[in-house]
Amino acid sequence: MEQRLNTLLKDSFGHDLNTASEKEIYEALLTLTKEEMQGRPRIAGKKKLYYISAEFLIGKLLSNNLINIGLFDEVSSVLKKYNKDITEIEAYEPEPSLGNGGLGRLAACFLDSIASLDLPGDGIGLNYHYGLFEQKFKNNLQNEVKNPWITEKSWLTKDPEGKFEVPFRRFTVTSTLYDIDVPGYNREGVNKLHLFDLDTVDETLVGDDTIDFDKEEIEKNLTLFLYPDDSDDAGRKLRIYQQYFMVSCGAQLILKETKERGGDLHRLNEYVTIQINDTHPSMVIPELIRLIQIEGFTMDEAISIVRKTCAYTNHTILSEALEKWPMDYMEAVVPHLLPIIRELDNRVRKEVADPSTYIIDDDNRVHMAHMDIHYGYSINGVAALHTEILKNSELNNFYRLYPGKFNNKTNGITFRRWLLHCNPALAELITEKIGDGFKTNVNKLTKLLEYKDDPETLMRLGEIKKKKKEELAAFFKETQDLTIDPNSIFDVQVKRLHEYKRQQMNCLYAIYKIMEIKKGNKPKTPLTMIFGAKAAPAYIIAKDIIHLILCLQEYTANDPEIAPYFRVVMAENYNVTKAAKIIPAAEISEQISLASKEASGTSNMKFMLNGAVTLGTEDGANVEIKDLVGDDNIYIFGEKSDTVIDLYDTAGYCSKDFYEKDELIKKLVDFIVGEEMMKLGDKEHLERLYKEILNKDWFMTLLDIKDYIRVKEKMLSDYEDKTAWNKMALVNIAKAGFFSSDRTIEQYNKEVWHLK
Ligand SMILES: *Cc1c(COP(=O)(O)O)cnc(C)c1O
Repeated sequence: MEQRLNTLLKDSFGHDLNTASEKEIYEALLTLTKEEMQGRPRIAGKKKLYYISAEFLIGKLLSNNLINIGLFDEVSSVLKKYNKDITEIEAYEPEPSLGNGGLGRLAACFLDSIASLDLPGDGIGLNYHYGLFEQKFKNNLQNEVKNPWITEKSWLTKDPEGKFEVPFRRFTVTSTLYDIDVPGYNREGVNKLHLFDLDTVDETLVGDDTIDFDKEEIEKNLTLFLYPDDSDDAGRKLRIYQQYFMVSCGAQLILKETKERGGDLHRLNEYVTIQINDTHPSMVIPELIRLIQIEGFTMDEAISIVRKTCAYTNHTILSEALEKWPMDYMEAVVPHLLPIIRELDNRVRKEVADPSTYIIDDDNRVHMAHMDIHYGYSINGVAALHTEILKNSELNNFYRLYPGKFNNKTNGITFRRWLLHCNPALAELITEKIGDGFKTNVNKLTKLLEYKDDPETLMRLGEIKKKKKEELAAFFKETQDLTIDPNSIFDVQVKRLHEYKRQQMNCLYAIYKIMEIKKGNKPKTPLTMIFGAKAAPAYIIAKDIIHLILCLQEYTANDPEIAPYFRVVMAENYNVTKAAKIIPAAEISEQISLASKEASGTSNMKFMLNGAVTLGTEDGANVEIKDLVGDDNIYIFGEKSDTVIDLYDTAGYCSKDFYEKDELIKKLVDFIVGEEMMKLGDKEHLERLYKEILNKDWFMTLLDIKDYIRVKEKMLSDYEDKTAWNKMALVNIAKAGFFSSDRTIEQYNKEVWHLK
């Protein structure tokens, strides 16, 4: 190893491990790891999975790839000999910005688990040059700038086999394909993540420090950004261009590979299964039907083959997130799909009496999810509660048509990244206590329960947490010049900014805390509230909430009565790298979405695995966490999903009533536009947010705020008994095995994919 690294460094840079810079060492390690993976066999089998997704939020890969191919320890110890630290080396790796949040991170965890279970399954997505965007704070506001991440040397390998012609109405483009190897943990074989791109894409279309570009120049802009702004027609059409490009390339690749493996297209479903991750890839259904017809099949045959091949995962019940594309737009971009989509819709109309399930609605819009449900063989939700809500309310009309197609697959996370990589000290403590069997069989984690009354184990858990808190405090200081006290309680809410996730309710709690301290009720242990979140650039209220958080950050840092007891801080540009630093340091895991709205959540699982205690509503996978750890090891508050669904159905919630009838609630909300905030913040943003909460409050923060305060205060006072707290942490870790994405993938394979 040492010699190989020295040779690589000598050949590329004329250096060796003594003289090379950290960046040079990073590049040498990248080359070494890539070579190692390229020498490995592809995972093979008669039937192969293709996981198509607009997002793959893979994070940095160096450490995780080294862990999976079994070289991490060796590399670390060689580096140590030269006084180098692998974490510092990895700092030179740019994080690929190929996803937005949970859905994209899920796809990445799944790729890791599919390979680790030795199942043949590749990812298919797009190679966005500037990714989502990079978030920068200025004047307490979010600014978006492009996020270039593709460097000269990277994990991407150009695949000459990936040239496919993709026809649009006005022109045809030819794809280029870049692959990233996906090694399994402790396995010989690799799968691939296929990222399609266009050679003609022109990065100079985007200036410095911006995300604006000419949306009409499709051949130059197609793969510049993930989720380009869709607030105008050109932006919406660009999304259709992207989606069709992705699925057409994907479908062509699938058919080509199937034929190469000697597969018979008549029985495509015996060779291939396609998992459609949310509705962005739904056009793969009509596209496959089109391509199979070109191979000489009739429409009937093509439809019946595809119907047995595609499966769909639903990620949300928020109606604004369920894609409906106007037929006019599709006509303008992919007219050749229209006859097929009309045919699919006509068949539904003949067979089904219920117009609410039609693919094309009265406004001439295509409901992507409807197409997936009628023409896919499996529909799954992503947590038990979510799937029940799909079956019993959101998609009940479909469930009654196809009860057998519906199934649940509770999300999971890969323990390689979210424990072994991000919290090696914790992994080591667990290994010391129960052996390292949990690394390949996560159910063994429950053996930790034998130590739940062992003072030494509990104390060491506390020490590991403390160390992570110190590291995080140093990181905030270094990166954002923010001071936080590692002896304070770390209370963390990191996730996309969305009103349903209710960061605004957490802000109201912060305001409560400020008012209490001003009254003289100082907390026994200081509290640090840590946020991290990107808001979609066109989501006005979400950006107003970020503004409020940043104003609270400034206020709590500078008020001498508050600062020693209470701080609000917000991590800039929250991403996988930051998640891996923040989550192991967390003590309170904020999972406070309005019940019924968070399909699953996955950060809740990452926190649990790292010994944070959940403060949450009975929503998504929180319900399953609660069932596993028991009521004594979780803090639950707020109205339940049934009540919330009723309130929506009857329009029974009025935020103003709560505001007017409750003195405390009124004070908390008024603070947003009070003199302290107005002095630091922007009037327009703060007033808009104030009015939104007062007059709309679509996600019912005022419904739950009192109970939230009550339970959070109880939680903070329970923290004072550190042994009891560490015991809760231990129980959470011990019970986290269920949330391994290996378990999720085993269930997909057994119940949906049937790969081997
Ligand atoms: C896990 C993860 C998410 C998902 O968080 P939720 O709280 O489940 O929404 C989002 N972003 C990043 C970077 C993550 O690692």
